Parts: sequence; structure tokens; C-alpha cells
Amino acid sequence: MTTFGKVYKTEAIVLKHFPLGEADYILTLFSPNRGKIRAVARGSRRIKSKLGGHIEPLMRTSFVINAGKNLDIISQAELIDGFRPLRENIHFLNLGIYMAELVDYMTQENQSNQETYRLLLESITAICNDHSPTLLPYFQLRMIIHNGFGPELYDCIECGTLIEPNKHRFCTDGGGVICLHCKPENVNILPLRLDTLKLLRFLSRSDWKSIQRLRLNRGNLIELNRITKELISYTINRDIISSTFLDYLYESFESEESV
Ligand SMILES: [Zn+2]
Repeated sequence: MTTFGKVYKTEAIVLKHFPLGEADYILTLFSPNRGKIRAVARGSRRIKSKLGGHIEPLMRTSFVINAGKNLDIISQAELIDGFRPLRENIHFLNLGIYMAELVDYMTQENQSNQETYRLLLESITAICNDHSPTLLPYFQLRMIIHNGFGPELYDCIECGTLIEPNKHRFCTDGGGVICLHCKPENVNILPLRLDTLKLLRFLSRSDWKSIQRLRLNRGNLIELNRITKELISYTINRDIISSTFLDYLYESFESEESV
């Protein structure tokens, strides 16, 4: 915890804002060294506020913040990157908002989480530049990994034996692959093709530069999206509000890219 009364400087991505009183916003920020931060931007809803244009959701901004007793107070904000292409396309914006919501749900306040910060920054940048349909399953899978929720991609989650090619399914409740012999009751088990399993392994360990070059066929993409989306739903135990946009979003990505 930051000591009350201290001033700190950090860059952060704005996850969301919410009106507070007549003139203020309360912001949820995500920073590399402090994780999630909640802070008040006083007077920021006034037209002449000097904070205006620096604190919109999905902006990357350099902040100076006073640590308060209950809530921190933003004293300065200077935009680093506004990700303009994101704001000019409703599908890109929805995808960015979904990612921000996911980071909000899955991370803690005042807890350094540099991997998630890098992932969010990399992914928002990729929305603007790449328009790749692989970005969403990549982001979802890496969020699960970076925040300590698995998944197991090599050994059966029930019996622990090494998974053999073409003798596997995916158990979202158990968070990983399951062999054909194990048949636990009352769990959600999805089909898993060998090439999709290989893709999951590749996405779990490779950087975005390598992944963005992949051109997946529609079957792989559908299976990958279904598995990562259900893993996320199980992990956070709720449906993220903006995920209702996502099926529509897949369509728009698919129409722009040959997959
Ligand atoms: Zn097994």
C-alpha cells in the first residue's frame, strides 16, 4: 500500500471511468508496477478541465497521483498514446473495452503485474495495427496464464498421464486437457482437435510477433475461441458484459481477414 499523503508517478492504461458527484470522474487505471489503481480525477467532467483528453478509457497516460486515505487523487495527466484507430471503429473499440474489463476483473489493486500490463498494451496496439482474428484467443489465454489459472496443456488433468496425439478433449472446469479414459461427471468437456491443441501450446509460449503471422482456418479459430472464452467464463465465474459483442466481433474480423 502507498503511504497516505505520498505522491507517486506512473504510466497507466485507463480501464474505465465512472461519474462521481457533479464534476469528477473516478478512474480505474492499470499500471505496470502497482497493478490496478482507483483514483479520482477532480473537476475532470468540466469542459475546461486540464485532465480532459488524457483520461478516457483505453488511453495510455502518464499520471502524477497523490495517495489519499480512502481514494487516490490525480494531480497531473499527460497522454502518451490515445490509440486513435481504436476510437474510429466500433468493433475495435468494443474489443478494447472487453480486454479492459477482463483486466479489471482478473487483477488486484496495488499488486505489481507487469506481464498483464505488457499484454494489455501489446493487445491494444495490435487491435490498431493488425486486425488479426487470433488476437482475442491469444489475449484470453495469456490473461489466464499470467494470472495463475493454468491451463494444463500436456498432462491429463484427472490421471496425470501424458496426453497422446488425437486422444484428448478439453475440460474447461478442470482447466486443461483430459484423456479419453477419464470420464469425470458434471464437468464441461469440449472436443479438441490435435491442431487446435498444438495452437494452444504455441499461443501459450510464443510472442505476438510470431503469432500474428498465423493464418488459422475457420475450424481452428472457432474451437480456439470457444475453449478460451469458456475458460475465461469459468475462471471469473461470470459473463463479462461486453462479451455479448464478441460473436459479432468475430464476424467482422473474419470478413476482413482470410482465415
Ligand atoms: Zn486421464
